[in-house]
Amino acid sequence: MFEHLMTPAQRAHRDELRAFVKSVPRDLILAMDRDEVQFPKEFLQEAGRLNLLGPRYPVALGGRGLKWVDSCMAMEEVGVLGYIFACVFGVGAELVCDAIVSLGTDDQKERFVRPLLAGRRFAAECLTEPRGGSDFFGAASKATKCDGGWVLNGAKRFIVGGSEADFFLVYARTNPDVPPHKGMTCFLVERGPGVTSNYLYGLMGCRGGGTARVMFHDVFVPDANVLGGVDRAVDVFYPMMIPERLGTAAMTIGAARPAVELATRYTSKRKAFGQPIKDFQGVGFQVADAVTLLDASRSLVFTTACAVDAGDDPNRVRRFVSETKKFVTSSCQQAARNAMQVMGGIGYTNVYPVERIVRDLSLASIWTGTNEIMALIVQTEWYKEYARHAAAVRDPEPDAEHAFDQDEKVYE
Ligand SMILES: Cc1cc2nc3c(=O)[nH]c(=O)nc-3n(C[C@H](O)[C@H](O)[C@H](O)COP(=O)(O)OP(=O)(O)OC[C@H]3O[C@@H](n4cnc5c(N)ncnc54)[C@H](O)[C@@H]3O)c2cc1C
Repeated sequence: MFEHLMTPAQRAHRDELRAFVKSVPRDLILAMDRDEVQFPKEFLQEAGRLNLLGPRYPVALGGRGLKWVDSCMAMEEVGVLGYIFACVFGVGAELVCDAIVSLGTDDQKERFVRPLLAGRRFAAECLTEPRGGSDFFGAASKATKCDGGWVLNGAKRFIVGGSEADFFLVYARTNPDVPPHKGMTCFLVERGPGVTSNYLYGLMGCRGGGTARVMFHDVFVPDANVLGGVDRAVDVFYPMMIPERLGTAAMTIGAARPAVELATRYTSKRKAFGQPIKDFQGVGFQVADAVTLLDASRSLVFTTACAVDAGDDPNRVRRFVSETKKFVTSSCQQAARNAMQVMGGIGYTNVYPVERIVRDLSLASIWTGTNEIMALIVQTEWYKEYARHAAAVRDPEPDAEHAFDQDEKVYE
């Protein structure tokens, strides 16, 4: 987050996060990238012990009672460790908690939120299925009513934290006789009989985050673990798009930042043709572009976080969040690629972590909704929004010399 926009309390919070990030051993980062550590349990336990998880939730539940702006700042700082650290930091405490804090019963908050924020339990969010992630409402997982609860069957894939989670937020079809958006339910599913998870993907990057296929075979889920009402998955799904996408955007900045910083240091020291390569405009301008993209991304995350904190119009927030996710993830990917390019051949090796950052960041434009889906939402919301606000602003159409040549204004 920008220094000049922070209060003293926010700076102190930022410094706590930076101290925590500094304390994480490099061995853990390397072991995760080698797939030798499948899930960084101790990292989350320590974050919980330091009260760093979920800062925007009520103090009574183990949060700090802060705002979205603070959560975004936290996600950026944790992203510096590597994208997957921010993924596991965010999935439980930012995503799963968000839904339970907003829509859960008091009993669910006690059983799930409090231990999660304390780092004592781990959670995973299960939307994506083998048959598709973008088409969320096409989900094939289903739950059928039984005495005192539901019997859940289905398979989810690419689930961050899935290999270690103690419980799962799972969407399933509960009424096949109505359109899917009226017949799906969200469940909080404890790991137990019928739940299996396999850490099986050869991921390009973001390794060590417990990304797994999770299967549910005749799993009994008590009524008390229905989140937000039977057939009311939409009430959970749509609001969760805010933490999914705004959190993703914020952490992507943090993950790209070290690449740009390393490139700055390297190009200041490295010489070619008798001078530091930073003094060649072809090099220095790429670093300048990268820094500009990071700052533009940070600005967008900040203003969108302010819109969410202010309770702005939900449709406009939906557009802001989607365009923020799309712009920031593609901008940060570009910034990291610039960083690798100006480091020449060595940037492509594992002598520096830049190649890992580039690999890791490829996930940013895919998960929590692809950037194509983000564009789809922005398009839909913008056209609706324009129709609503057009009458309130000056009509620019007559401000052209031949504006009234109706014969030239042909639309069909
Ligand atoms: C490492 C990793 C971690 C993940 N973590 C999680 C997690 O924790 N929980 C979870 O639920 N999911 C997770 N995902 C899944 C991720 O969110 C999905 O992969 C993503 O939403 C895309 O779904 P898909 O892979 O099924 O692709 P598809 O939906 O099959 O899409 C394939 C392509 O078609 C495009 N496309 C689809 N529909 C449209 C359209 N209408 N207009 C334009 N283009 C379209 C997409 O943009 C994409 O380019 C993770 C994925 C990975 C790789």
